[in-house]
Amino acid sequence: MTTMPAPLPRPRAEVVIDLDAIRHNVAILAGCAAASGAATMAVVKADGYGHGAIDVAAAALQAGASALGVCSVEEALALRHGGINAPVLAWLHAPGEDLAAGLAAGVELGVYSTGQLDTVAAATAATGATARVHLKVDTGLTRGGASSNQWPGLVRAAVATRGIEVVAIWSHLAHADDPDHPIIEQQVRRFDEAYQVAREAGLRPLRHLANSAATLTRPDLHYDLVRPGIAVYGLSPVPGVGYHLLPAMTLRSQVAMVKRVPAGEGVSYGHVWHTTRETTLALVPAGYADGVPRVLTGRLDVWLAGRRRPVVGRVCMDQVMVDCGDDLVAQGAEVIFFGTGDSGAPTAAEWADKLGTIHYEVVAGMVRPRLTRTVCGRRPIAVDLNGTRVVR
Ligand SMILES: *Cc1c(COP(=O)(O)O)cnc(C)c1O
Repeated sequence: MTTMPAPLPRPRAEVVIDLDAIRHNVAILAGCAAASGAATMAVVKADGYGHGAIDVAAAALQAGASALGVCSVEEALALRHGGINAPVLAWLHAPGEDLAAGLAAGVELGVYSTGQLDTVAAATAATGATARVHLKVDTGLTRGGASSNQWPGLVRAAVATRGIEVVAIWSHLAHADDPDHPIIEQQVRRFDEAYQVAREAGLRPLRHLANSAATLTRPDLHYDLVRPGIAVYGLSPVPGVGYHLLPAMTLRSQVAMVKRVPAGEGVSYGHVWHTTRETTLALVPAGYADGVPRVLTGRLDVWLAGRRRPVVGRVCMDQVMVDCGDDLVAQGAEVIFFGTGDSGAPTAAEWADKLGTIHYEVVAGMVRPRLTRTVCGRRPIAVDLNGTRVVR
């Protein structure tokens, strides 16, 4: 006689975030950076690429990161409210954002233009705080930052403006995922020229340029600080990168109902798929409102009861059907949509390939009202180095 374990109460659809995986990945990244004398800023924008910014930030700080990078001041303040007191850089501001609130919370600010510098200076005048700014130079991505012709003016203005402390100059690469691309050298040349301009103006700023890809493949571009994002989450920024990163996010659900269906039946809306023989179908309560893209109808596998199985028929808003053949599949059985890829289960990278996008978009999209986020792994505890207090 065997005793059946009590079924786990499990959300309908959830992302499970493995903080041990985050720590493992950050230890690799911070180790790479430290080998060339650089510090590590873990990028936790967009709610930690969909993983939960506060938990990821705390885990990253435990594992060797010393600073955090986000897009908006609002995201930086959310970290502060979560008890994260490590240095935070917020790098893209929309007109009208409350920079003063950021300054009051000690958030460092990316600055792209003299106009923005004026806005920051006004906020310092209002708060009495000194603004720690990172001046951004556009070295060829042609996105944010001062162009080469605007750079000397921005540097001069920063030197001349009261209440502004230039902590760093920084830029962002266009081809980091192709480590030998010639444009990288052009960007580096422009970055080094921009640094000379800053030095000649009397500044002694730190420099940072490297995202995940450059952190792992171009130690010569680490400068003083690296800014890895995607690799923190265990997703490879470059195909075949020689480090064993662990994907931290698993999207899973469970079997809500099992039914035996005869041959020749149409399944789900529009009957775009029919059974070709008698088979067992499992109903899984996760659909496109939970992050399972409808456009993957007919192209999606899940991991269920020890193997890959195809999702059949249309992906619906709330549910999908999985063909289990003649296998015994229990109600309540775990269904993995993507995760670590162990034993050949699907991954976020596989979804990205099928969707014609990148795994960044897949994981960042897993923030939905009906999707539960569950954190596993050893929880961050109390107080850390760097004056980082982690309140839970
Ligand atoms: C998102 C972002 C990063 C992190 O990039 P990854 O490719 O995810 O490592 C670094 N720097 C800036 C400016 C970014 O916007």
